[in-house]
Amino acid sequence: MVRIAIVPGDGIGREVIPVAWNIISSLHPEFESFEVEVGYARWQRTGISCTDEDISVMKEADAILFGAVTTPPDSCYSSVILRIRHALDLYANLRPVKGDDFDIMIVRENSEGLYSGIEWREKDRACTVRVVSVEGSRRIARCASHLAKARGCLLTIGNKANVIKSDVLFREICCEEASRAGIPFEACFIDSLALDILQHPKRYGVIVTTNIFGDILSDVAGYLVGGLGMLPSANIGDQHALFEPVHGSAPDIAGQGRANPIAAIRSGAMLLTHLGFKEDAELIEDAIRSVCQSGIRTPDLGGSASTGSFGEAIRSALGC
Ligand code: ATP
Repeated sequence: MVRIAIVPGDGIGREVIPVAWNIISSLHPEFESFEVEVGYARWQRTGISCTDEDISVMKEADAILFGAVTTPPDSCYSSVILRIRHALDLYANLRPVKGDDFDIMIVRENSEGLYSGIEWREKDRACTVRVVSVEGSRRIARCASHLAKARGCLLTIGNKANVIKSDVLFREICCEEASRAGIPFEACFIDSLALDILQHPKRYGVIVTTNIFGDILSDVAGYLVGGLGMLPSANIGDQHALFEPVHGSAPDIAGQGRANPIAAIRSGAMLLTHLGFKEDAELIEDAIRSVCQSGIRTPDLGGSASTGSFGEAIRSALGC
């Protein structure tokens, strides 16, 4: 029996995840699901955002479908998604960006870098430690090299080694692993890469980079496909897997039924591929294409469909 943990979280996560889950469970009524409440809304109500018990039950699932959580600028509050990524050791964040004539996979190191969680405030400054370890770099480099080999494409190593010493190490390890895998690779500085990916998206196949650079680069690449509402992601570890849209909780549009659910639906499609149902994932991608082409779109794509009605259009395109 496949068991899925559903974690809507905050803001538009609560609107897009039910739509995505409705589609997945229509295709796979045999999947069992259970909901886990975490996030800022829970913290506001109870003073707790996520417990050890929540983490334990997520670990029992075959996969987790996650919405988004708000992280307020409050020094007493620590990010729930970072805690989950660390606790489940979800070290690879895969962020596909696909258009008619390009197919890029951004592989973001997800466990260290500038999101190490080692930070403190002093009287007149605040410090965050950027951690790049040999082991952390090697496992993400291997993951990206395997993906590039399987796709038969170039591996681009995004870095800022000309300025940051920790990226010299990251670049070295990635070059070693790419050579070992026998794939074509190049190292590019992340700032010029961010521009070039917009100008020449067809040049790129798999891009591997450190945590915050991957976070920013994938939002930038969202420009190529119609914005943040379109981009899914997978957080993969050796034991667990969590699927979530790249976007956050978008408090500015939450509760209005305006959120584009495509990123969440595509995250659900990645979950299906992970569980071995690649054909269903392809059917979902085809349905998204045909519904958008028929003119049914949410406001961020220039349409007037609501989150829910877009989801229903996908279900009827799938014959559910
Ligand atoms: P958070 O603090 O949770 O990261 P945020 O608002 O800072 O939230 P995002 O949620 O990533 O960051 O959103 C940035 C902007 O992009 C939002 O203000 C919203 O207008 C738009 N946006 C994000 N996701 C969607 C979506 N699914 N549909 C429509 N617009 C979206």
